Amino acid sequence: ATYSKDDIRQIAKDENVQFLRLMFTDLFGTIKNVEVPINQLEELLDNKIMFDGSSIDGFVRIEESDMYLYPDLSTWMIFPWSADNKGKIARVICEVHTTDGKPFAGDPRNNLIRVLDDMRKAGFTDFNIGPEPEFFLFKLDDKGNPTTDLNDKGSYFDMAPMDLGENCRRDIVLTLEEMGFEVEAAHHEEAPGQHEIDFKYADALAAADNIQTFKLVVKSVARKHGLYATFMPKPLYGINGSGMHINMSLFHDQGNAFYDKDGDRELSQDAYYFLGGLLKHARSYTAICNPIVNSYKRLVPGYEAPVYVAWSSSNRSPLVRVPNSRGVGTRLELRSVDPAANPYLTIAAVLESGLDGLKNKIKPENAVDRNIYRMDTDERKENHITNLPDSLHNALKDLAGDDVIRKAMGERLCKNFIEAKNLEYDSYRTQVSEWERDTYLPLY
Ligand code: ADP
Ligand code: GLU
Ligand code: MG
Ligand code: MG
Repeated sequence: ATYSKDDIRQIAKDENVQFLRLMFTDLFGTIKNVEVPINQLEELLDNKIMFDGSSIDGFVRIEESDMYLYPDLSTWMIFPWSADNKGKIARVICEVHTTDGKPFAGDPRNNLIRVLDDMRKAGFTDFNIGPEPEFFLFKLDDKGNPTTDLNDKGSYFDMAPMDLGENCRRDIVLTLEEMGFEVEAAHHEEAPGQHEIDFKYADALAAADNIQTFKLVVKSVARKHGLYATFMPKPLYGINGSGMHINMSLFHDQGNAFYDKDGDRELSQDAYYFLGGLLKHARSYTAICNPIVNSYKRLVPGYEAPVYVAWSSSNRSPLVRVPNSRGVGTRLELRSVDPAANPYLTIAAVLESGLDGLKNKIKPENAVDRNIYRMDTDERKENHITNLPDSLHNALKDLAGDDVIRKAMGERLCKNFIEAKNLEYDSYRTQVSEWERDTYLPLY
């Protein structure tokens, strides 16, 4: 929605808003909050709210710690669960600015705004994103800590009474709708305890904001039901993990740039070039779309998650699928992304990859319309099918070597990301796991 400053003043008064929650996202995709009382509203509207940036991971050094929050008024929203007699809480998503008024380059949201400007310079008007986030609901223990006990034994599209998470999921959907989300589908996923909620696509920036808000709502509502919602990509061995497929389409003044009724498969030449870029840079943006050690336990054969760099219009094993819909709904679905990804960085990286495909007229390999999990190494080689990186370590190496993706992140974010993630990987690598003790203690 678009709001003027006066609209906000009026709504705050009419709705008895008492607290303002100012939100932004750090490098790792974590939502950060600064809460101020309503008497700070004028300061906020004048871009005068300050915070200490040195307290945020990967943000700034102590000597340059003052940062300003500039509210994006279009993201104003009142939390539905805050309606008690102490007054309501409103949130607004902010851009982080430095003391000289410039957008701070270490803010992933500012970075996406920058990449979207490049897109406009290349002649396009919108990049539309429709995410399909999946998550698990686990039981909480007596002390309120999350367990890995599932709360149901349901499976894909199961109906109550198997699906005990259904009440919780329905409550999540109602809350999202109260907050202005248009929910298109909500269902039980393949694995027990696993759910998916799809909401309507939006332009890239709003979609990334929506993903962040979505996670907050899912976690808050689940808690009220005594459940723990997790977006961890692979919480349990041996069953499906959670992905967050990203549907994307590019628009220019004449409409959907991916659609051409006379094109091969009714796709435009631009759609093929964009796809070419997406496939070419796939290995390099994997570290962004699959940013934690655990992400790579999901990207293995047999669980509906992609392992190979290929595309198809019919089956779900490749990295990119072209769903059937045409006309304004013509889109590409990137299936590797998981919900641990920072949505601002992810969208910037895939957009920059596609734009590189357009600029350099990169042609994709032929579609692979067979189940790739069932092909052997030679068959994959004949079809020019490569693998996605198999670990965070290897993904980071690919990221470091790709100038297009580095540019998509901006040098500052990229450098901090690679440094922090290498440390994370190292901390994992040097641990000794249950599996190792179980396997080796009896033998050696
Ligand atoms: P799947 O079949 O993979 O489960 P769907 O085909 O139902 O998923 O896709 C759902 C998502 O695609 C929704 O978020 C929807 O809003 C989004 N979507 C639809 N049209 C577009 C478009 N033109 N651009 C981007 N996303 C779109
Ligand atoms: N859960 C699967 C994944 O890890 C995706 C299932 C689906 O196709 O919706 O990506
Ligand atoms: Mg799904
Ligand atoms: Mg999908």
